[in-house]
Parts: sequence; structure tokens; C-alpha cells
Amino acid sequence: MPLSPVAAKRIFQDVWVCMRCNAKNRSSRGKKPGKCRKCNSHKLRQKKKGKKKSA
Ligand SMILES: [Zn+2]
Repeated sequence: MPLSPVAAKRIFQDVWVCMRCNAKNRSSRGKKPGKCRKCNSHKLRQKKKGKKKSA
């Protein structure tokens, strides 16, 4: 079952992953969180849309 665009957006667009501790940080739409909630690092990347590999 494919993800609906809305769900995909919610899951991928608003989630930022800390590059230091890999914590996921949720943000409001279109907004980047200022810092990691766990380690206060400013190095955050957006969670990528992972395509599932078959086999
Ligand atoms: Zn962190």
C-alpha cells in the first residue's frame, strides 16, 4: 500500500535527523528545528525518503 502524499509529507518532510546523535526531531511544516532536542547540535539533516529495496 503506497503512502498517501499527506502521510509521506508528515513522515519525511517534517522530520529532521541529528547528525551527531541520530535523534529524530519533528518540526512544524516547512520549518527546520533550531537544534537537536537531545544534544543541542545544530547539525540536522532532513530525513530522506527511503525507497524500499526489493530483495
Ligand atoms: Zn542530537
